[in-house]
Amino acid sequence: MIDTHAHLDTLCDIDRGVDKIILAASGMKDSKNNLILGEKYPEKLLASLGIHPMENQDSPAELKKLVDENYKKIVAIGECGLDFSSDFDKEKQIIVFKKQVELAQKYKLPLIIHARKAVDETVEILKEYKNLSGVFHCYAGGNKRIKKIIDLGENWYFGIDGNLTYEDGLVEIVKNIPKDRLILETDCPYLTPVPFRGEINSPKNVEYVYKKVAEIWGMSFEETEKIIDANAKILFSID
Ligand SMILES: [Zn+2]
Repeated sequence: MIDTHAHLDTLCDIDRGVDKIILAASGMKDSKNNLILGEKYPEKLLASLGIHPMENQDSPAELKKLVDENYKKIVAIGECGLDFSSDFDKEKQIIVFKKQVELAQKYKLPLIIHARKAVDETVEILKEYKNLSGVFHCYAGGNKRIKKIIDLGENWYFGIDGNLTYEDGLVEIVKNIPKDRLILETDCPYLTPVPFRGEINSPKNVEYVYKKVAEIWGMSFEETEKIIDANAKILFSID
């Protein structure tokens, strides 16, 4: 199992049972911390560097410097993107997002995309660039935007989280996502799946998301794990 999206502050959260954990970054502080964690546990923890759209106090120039110095040590850029669910400065979000798309393109790294109430706008920006890859983390574009993301190219994936275990609408969405485009994540400490809903989430709980997908696909856990992990390995270039 691979948890393709976790926020970890400390090492106490490293769990047995999960082969790899991709550390998503919300801002500069997380990005620096992810590098430290990734260097300490290179077999298990894979770092991403980025600035979340709601964290735009952080400077994209500072992020660029960090990526320029460390691109060989990381597996992705993000999470970054657009969040139009509040009145956060949209213009600034777009500028900060585009800077990160440029970094991903320069270093051939996948993007971990956060898009809320802005999937269409995010897709339009991505279409301006060539040779990108990435994941729409915690995909929230509904059934009607699945095709839009597939049309971005074969290097684009859908990230699904623990809310799959309690949101019926997401079950339908998973049925409509091609099997070779799905990866799973916890987004811990958030989005704890059933049966631990209400508790703080951790990477090991990604197991319940795998189990739910296996149930939806009507396949064994092992077959499901094989397909999902192969997808994550392709996207993040994991050996
Ligand atoms: Zn996240």
